Amino acid sequence: MNVRLIAVTNPLVEIQNEKLNPEGLIAYCARVSSPHQENLDYEKLLAYCIKNRHWSIFEMVDMTIEIVTSRAISPQILRHRSFVFQEFSQRYTKVQSFETYAPRRQDAKNRQHSIDDLDVSTVEWFAEAQEEIRALSEKKYNDALEKGIARECARMLLPLNTQTKLYMKGSVRSWIHYIEVRTDPSTQKEHRDIAEAVRTIFIDRFPVTASALGWA
Ligand SMILES: Cc1cc2nc3c(=O)[nH]c(=O)nc-3n(C[C@H](O)[C@H](O)[C@H](O)COP(=O)(O)OP(=O)(O)OC[C@H]3O[C@@H](n4cnc5c(N)ncnc54)[C@H](O)[C@@H]3O)c2cc1C
Repeated sequence: MNVRLIAVTNPLVEIQNEKLNPEGLIAYCARVSSPHQENLDYEKLLAYCIKNRHWSIFEMVDMTIEIVTSRAISPQILRHRSFVFQEFSQRYTKVQSFETYAPRRQDAKNRQHSIDDLDVSTVEWFAEAQEEIRALSEKKYNDALEKGIARECARMLLPLNTQTKLYMKGSVRSWIHYIEVRTDPSTQKEHRDIAEAVRTIFIDRFPVTASALGWA
């Protein structure tokens, strides 16, 4: 898994000869009807808008994140329909890598939950099983390509832990709700790890908003 910031909206508006930062731009747009639009203080304003669910102001700034994960997790990410995506195509380029995961025990009562208390021999068995499946599917995939079978057909031989890369672009509003939903314990751990990494980036780039949300 790897998560990396690749872009944030670059404000061009200048106040007192200084370019606004992205949070400053959110506040500047929020004050469209105010006579004090050039006010550089926005801590209280952003906290007020969050408290009162005035979410649309957070749509004024976008952030793009690069995510490397597996084909098991990418469909969950792609369900967040307010974002726009580019994903690595297995039709155009040969698959190169696989993610490796540690197993957890199924919670008998809660289908959305798993427990990290498996014994060492079961954990080792899962690691070996993953490696066995990876080696077999990679070999058959390569055999298929050598036989001239199209990449779009050969990929049917690949497992769900095949690595993929996505670019995910959305507004600060969408990122706030994505982080809230996907850092919740009801989201599976492998996706939660991605959302936690996104939250770290968010806190760094939007410290005032993150603080108002109680994240920092
Ligand atoms: C634990 C879990 C289990 C799931 N199980 C299934 C399943 O079994 N089958 C299935 O098909 N799908 C499942 N999903 C996917 C889920 O139904 C959604 O499709 C997915 O979470 C994307 O959310 P979204 O549609 O809100 O999109 P997003 O792009 O995240 O949000 C859409 C818009 O709504 C806004 N928004 C979101 N939340 C708020 C809020 N609280 N207040 C204000 N605005 C908000 C966002 O800012 C955005 O503008 C599951 C999701 C989770 C987290």
